[in-house]
Amino acid sequence: MSVVSRGPGAAAIEQAAVLLGPLAERGRPMGELTTYRVGGRAALFSQPDSVADLERLAVAVGATAIPVVVLGKGSNLLVADSGFAGLCVRLADGFARVEIDADLVRAGGAAAYPVLARRTAAAGLSGLEWAVGIPGSVGGAVRMNAGGHGAQTSDFLVDCRIVSLHGGAEHLVAASALDLSYRHSSIGPYDVVTEASYRLEYGDAALSTARIDEVVRWRREHQPGGQNAGSVFANPPGDAAGRLIEEAGLKGFRIGSAVVSDRHANFIQADPGGSADDVKRLIDEVRALVAERLGVELRTELRLVGFEEGS
Ligand SMILES: Cc1cc2nc3c(=O)[nH]c(=O)nc-3n(C[C@H](O)[C@H](O)[C@H](O)COP(=O)(O)OP(=O)(O)OC[C@H]3O[C@@H](n4cnc5c(N)ncnc54)[C@H](O)[C@@H]3O)c2cc1C
Repeated sequence: MSVVSRGPGAAAIEQAAVLLGPLAERGRPMGELTTYRVGGRAALFSQPDSVADLERLAVAVGATAIPVVVLGKGSNLLVADSGFAGLCVRLADGFARVEIDADLVRAGGAAAYPVLARRTAAAGLSGLEWAVGIPGSVGGAVRMNAGGHGAQTSDFLVDCRIVSLHGGAEHLVAASALDLSYRHSSIGPYDVVTEASYRLEYGDAALSTARIDEVVRWRREHQPGGQNAGSVFANPPGDAAGRLIEEAGLKGFRIGSAVVSDRHANFIQADPGGSADDVKRLIDEVRALVAERLGVELRTELRLVGFEEGS
């Protein structure tokens, strides 16, 4: 992995490092914190454990104008081999609690979606069973409006708390104000989701647990393991990106250390010890070939960090 070489300039990074002191680390490998497990380092890396920490980060970002990327579980994100020339913010365990109050569930931005699925099911609440198949965090799932098996985050989300690293103070935003649609929200790159509330239905713990087992089984049978970040492209209206990629004859298509999965054509796998830049080249080539052969423009669902075009 190479060290960050591009970006806002060493002086701004240096100034932010001084302002943040022990709240930030320099040159922390970032790719290994993603499910792709490829890619480079973050010039600065911080794991805030409280809203007060986030407010300190906001002061440093405001003073230096360094770019920011918020990292959840890294299950929908590809970091360039050259790394990210800015501040990577990853919520620490202080943001991972889950509280259940009757049919209302409050979860910290760093809580894992599979944990949320299992905790709510065990409490006899129904609605989030499908979330066991999403290897992401609450913050990442709200930002992406993650979904599967006929449901999505916006079906259950009531509101969330957001700290803007362009401004600071934590504020409550109703789900209806987040412009949530298919794998989309209005949450911006400087917004950190610190907590989300969900309203679920009273159900039956045994039935919900059985549904969870079914989702886990389906995922094992239909999705590849290994190093990937789930679906690379969003499904175009009325079609499936995987079906289109397969029809274009691209299952198994390889560039260097990256390959289109034989099992699910919308998954691109990286080899162990592989290169993020190979994954990016393969994404670009698949998009170009699907457009050329089938006349359909695919949009990436995957977030790209540190590449020329940004994410
Ligand atoms: C095997 C596999 C299967 C998957 N299946 C599905 C599926 O069925 N449906 C689906 O929707 N997705 C799926 N995904 C993709 C992924 O799990 C989801 O998009 C998930 O919601 C991403 O969460 P994360 O915490 O990993 O976010 P990351 O990948 O870390 O980040 C994704 C985006 O969210 C932002 N973000 C992360 N945390 C926060 C936060 N606290 N505040 C604000 N912004 C934040 C990041 O900046 C980035 O823009 C799959 C991935 C894998 C590896």
